[in-house]
Amino acid sequence: MATQPKTTEELKVFISTRDSRCDECRENLGRSAWITLVEGKGALCLSCADLDHLVYLPAGDTALTRRAKKHSTLSAVVLKWSRARRRYERQGLIVEEEALEKAEEECLADSDVRERRREREAVRREEIDQRYLKDFAGRVRELFPGCPARRETVIAEHACRKYSGRVGRSASAKSLDESAVRLAVIAHIRHRETDYDHLLAIGYERQEARFAVEKTLEQVMSKWETPQKRGKND
Ligand SMILES: [Zn+2]
Repeated sequence: MATQPKTTEELKVFISTRDSRCDECRENLGRSAWITLVEGKGALCLSCADLDHLVYLPAGDTALTRRAKKHSTLSAVVLKWSRARRRYERQGLIVEEEALEKAEEECLADSDVRERRREREAVRREEIDQRYLKDFAGRVRELFPGCPARRETVIAEHACRKYSGRVGRSASAKSLDESAVRLAVIAHIRHRETDYDHLLAIGYERQEARFAVEKTLEQVMSKWETPQKRGKND
């Protein structure tokens, strides 16, 4: 597979200053929505842009930012228009959660970081409806009995955050139906088990990148759909 960079530019996420709407899913995003702008395609919400698995790291801690970016296959800079200064200003980054955790480990000598991590974890826990999370994880395990240990929780946490944080999409039983669970698993596999994020990071369009990883995705899916013997390759 050719993985030559198509661009060396950073991906950019804009915090919108007016009411916006996603040009793909058509969802009203309200004011101050986080969007990406694609040439010729208009504005996309982070979900449609396939960036909604990334977590926000506000600017401020240079060492942490540098390390998190280094460890993250896919990251984007978050920009907001400053009316006073009439230019976009960098607010921080969105990065992979694991990259952020790794960066934090490296910065742990600094007790401040430890404190902030505790705070952030508390906020994340609050965002998530624990019962819904359990149900969702259970559905994942049921439909994908071969999925690696504890992975159903990772997938469920992401899905719960997504549904709970979005207007008009409550953590309802509807999102536990098979197709919703499958979509969540597919998104997870793409990001975690294929080159997808790397391809996006080097400038591939989403459709091209999806096409490039389709085979791997299918292989992983069918493996996960098959019950595995426990204790092996988890
Ligand atoms: Zn959208």
